[in-house]
Amino acid sequence: MASPLPSWFLKRFSTEDQCRASIRELRWPGGFRCPGCGSNRARLNARGLFRCQDCQKQASELSGTALAGGRVSLVTWFSVLWVMSETPSGISASGLAKLPDPDEDERNLVSYKTAWLLLHKIRGVMQQIPGPPTYGRVEVSIENLEVVELNQFGRQGKKAVQVLVVVKERADGSTEWACLRQIRDREPETLQRCLMEALGGVMREEIWSSPGSEFDWLGEAEYRHRTATELGLLSVNRVLGELRVWQVGTHWGEMSEKHLGAYLDEFVFRFNHRCRKSTPKEVFDDLVQRALHGEPKTFQDVVRGEA
Ligand SMILES: [Zn+2]
Repeated sequence: MASPLPSWFLKRFSTEDQCRASIRELRWPGGFRCPGCGSNRARLNARGLFRCQDCQKQASELSGTALAGGRVSLVTWFSVLWVMSETPSGISASGLAKLPDPDEDERNLVSYKTAWLLLHKIRGVMQQIPGPPTYGRVEVSIENLEVVELNQFGRQGKKAVQVLVVVKERADGSTEWACLRQIRDREPETLQRCLMEALGGVMREEIWSSPGSEFDWLGEAEYRHRTATELGLLSVNRVLGELRVWQVGTHWGEMSEKHLGAYLDEFVFRFNHRCRKSTPKEVFDDLVQRALHGEPKTFQDVVRGEA
C-alpha cells in the first residue's frame, strides 16, 4: 500500500541524526531557542542535550513537542507521519501494524499497540482550526453518525451520536472547509457556541440550515439565516458522503464513541487539505509543524481520550 519513499524524504529522515537535524532546522530556523525562557544562549552537553546558559534548563530538539516521550525512534515517527500524509484516507492501526520495516524485511515497522498509540498522537495534532472569517455561504446541519461503544460487559454495540456539520463555500460554490463536532444536545446555546468556534468567532456569513426548528434562533439573533431543503445542502451532503466512505473504508466502521472527536479531527484535516488541493508533501509539512507545536502525550493521556 505504501509507495517508495521520495528522495527529499530519504535525505532528511533516514537516520536518527538526520531527523534530529531536520527538527532543529524546522523548530529553530534562527538557531536554538530555550523552550523554558526563550534565550538563545545554550551549550550542547555530552548527552546531546542543550543546556540553557540563562535558566540552566536542559532541552532536546523534542522537548515540549508531540514527538517527545515514548520509545519510538524518530525514523519510525517520520515514516508514520509520511504514511499518514501520503495515503489520502490514512490508515488504521491494524493496517499500520502490517507494514514491513523498510530496513528489515522480516520485521514489521511497529506493533499494533505502538501503531494505535502513534495514530492517536498524530490525530491529537490534527485539531480543527477555525476557518478564516470571510463572507460567503455557510451550510449547517445536525446529522446522526453510528459509532461503536463498549457496554458494561465489554461487548461492542452500535450507537447513534449527533454531529454538528458546518461547511463553508467559496464564491464559486466549491467547498472551502468543513468543521465537524459531536454535540450532546440541540440547545441554541450549544449550537451557537459550536458554530461560533467553527467560524472563528465572527458570524457574518449567510447561513443555510436544514429544515427544522433547531436553527430558528439564527433568524431571531439577526443572523442572515436561510432554510434549505435536505437535498439543497450540497456541501453538507458531500462531507457526509466522504465521511461515511472513510468510516467504512479505512476504519471498517469501528470508530469508537470515546475517541470520536479525534477521528473527526483526522477526517476534517484530510478533507480540508483536499479542498485546498494540497500535495502529500504539503500535508506532511503541515503535520510535522503541528507535531512540533503540539503537546507531548503519554499512553495514559491517549487512553483517557485526551488525544
Ligand atoms: Zn532558558
